[in-house]
Amino acid sequence: MATSRDELVSYEYRKLRAQILAASDVCIVCGHGAATAVDHLQPVSKGGARLDPDNLAPIHGVKGCPTCLRKCNSEKGDRALVEVVQLVTSVDWFAGP
Ligand SMILES: [Zn+2]
Ligand SMILES: [Zn+2]
Repeated sequence: MATSRDELVSYEYRKLRAQILAASDVCIVCGHGAATAVDHLQPVSKGGARLDPDNLAPIHGVKGCPTCLRKCNSEKGDRALVEVVQLVTSVDWFAGP
């Protein structure tokens, strides 16, 4: 289905990918830098927005991570990010003074 609309979407996608990688190249799966691809936090097949910058994040692509050698994007596959990694944003204990 190589329609002109698909070409437009992939153009927009490449533009977004460049924007996201320019802002950060820290992989969402392993947390190391030098990510070369972006992936959807919520997969498009599961209702995620394809061209929403908030739904895209840097990830290591086919070459994998130069630091830990994981192939983060193929590891993640078509799953939602939360199914792959536990995000460390919810600190729900109080260990500090
Ligand atoms: Zn990675
Ligand atoms: Zn890594």
